Amino acid sequence: MSGRLIIRGGRVVTPGGVRRTDIEVSGERVAGFDPRGSRDGEVIDARGCYVLPGGIDSHTHLLGDVASGTRSAAFGGTTTALCFTNPRPGESAPNALIRGRREVEGRAVIDVDLHAIIGEPGRISTADLEHLKRLGVRAIKLFLAFPEQGLMATDGCLYEVLHASVRHGFLVKVHCENGGVIAALVADHLARRRKGPAYFAYSRPPDVEDEAIGRTLAIAHLAHAPVYLTHMTTAGGIERVRAARANGQMAYSEVCIHHLLLDASLYRGRRASRFLVAPPLRSRENVEALWSAVADGTVDTIASDHSQMRYQPPLTNDFTGLPYGFAGIELRLPLLLSEGMRRGLSIRRIAQLSATRPAQVFGLYPRKGAILAGSDADLVVWDPRPRWEVKASALHDGIGASPYSGMTLQGSIRYVFLRGRLVVDDGELVGSSLSGRCLIPAA
Ligand SMILES: [Zn+2]
Repeated sequence: MSGRLIIRGGRVVTPGGVRRTDIEVSGERVAGFDPRGSRDGEVIDARGCYVLPGGIDSHTHLLGDVASGTRSAAFGGTTTALCFTNPRPGESAPNALIRGRREVEGRAVIDVDLHAIIGEPGRISTADLEHLKRLGVRAIKLFLAFPEQGLMATDGCLYEVLHASVRHGFLVKVHCENGGVIAALVADHLARRRKGPAYFAYSRPPDVEDEAIGRTLAIAHLAHAPVYLTHMTTAGGIERVRAARANGQMAYSEVCIHHLLLDASLYRGRRASRFLVAPPLRSRENVEALWSAVADGTVDTIASDHSQMRYQPPLTNDFTGLPYGFAGIELRLPLLLSEGMRRGLSIRRIAQLSATRPAQVFGLYPRKGAILAGSDADLVVWDPRPRWEVKASALHDGIGASPYSGMTLQGSIRYVFLRGRLVVDDGELVGSSLSGRCLIPAA
């Protein structure tokens, strides 16, 4: 679409506030605003709707099926996914990134930036980190859990990577759960013949997360490095972030949509195995503490941790062999809008959490994350009026199951634009072309 496009009559959510104005789009960019609605061009009618910056999902796992995951994202108003690499055994982090970039190119419906998982933390070298930087990586991820998958970094490794990140200018994302204690709790449950699915969650209690968050903050402080805490779920973790910030530390906080919408009571039901995720769903008290932190600015980003495929551990006859992880990229923004507005969050705050802060934290702002003259015209036209019920079969991820099945949502997405191009029009994907780009530049 090369001519001038006018998004007419919507309430436009900008960093400065909500404005009733037309938006002019020229080529891939927002050209400007026209409050009087007088300019000509191809017109999209947004009367009665809000126009939001295209969603940026700061935590996704799409590799393996980029086409389905990004198509699903587009239907949910997410126009940029920050996606983790998936290094194979023995594959270096830079090589996994190069392979991921090849997989994204030509298959993505939305824009995708790749963040590098350090899959074998004991083997990461200075040369690998330098290579990642040359490849244009903006963030890398370490795990303090999953020793059984070889992913768990030692405290020394965490310190060294954080220390190096300052020099290289990338941000370190940390999965904070104490993997050693989890392994001991798992062994303890199994020794007592507690094999049911709920024990997956009960082996990962809030204390193992709080401890790992506290430790990560202390190590980041020692390394003089900013740090990004992925999928926080506990009141104790939130308190530790507030204390670190009060102490002058740069600590970024991510919460996932499932930890805001679902709670641990689901583990008491017969369908517990459908709700397994790491970290697990938490008690109501923790969920409400997360919402307070979302409202008061402690939380920076709300992500999906979308798994295009549930992680499949080796089969066993107890909870350690059960698949876990959720698909959530399509419903992240609609759920946040519906539940956030019901709870009294401003739509401006919702735009910050879903787009602006992810772009700022991960170096994509102001090209992405806000509706500003000169920004990419990644736009979502959201109608607050319709009510609808989630049906897993109507989602576009091809998975056929959703932890949100049966929920009623307020508001639905009418149009989605990626860099000025209409990609979703009233529930239909427009055109056949895959217009998404990999934001990691080609070598
Ligand atoms: Zn994840």
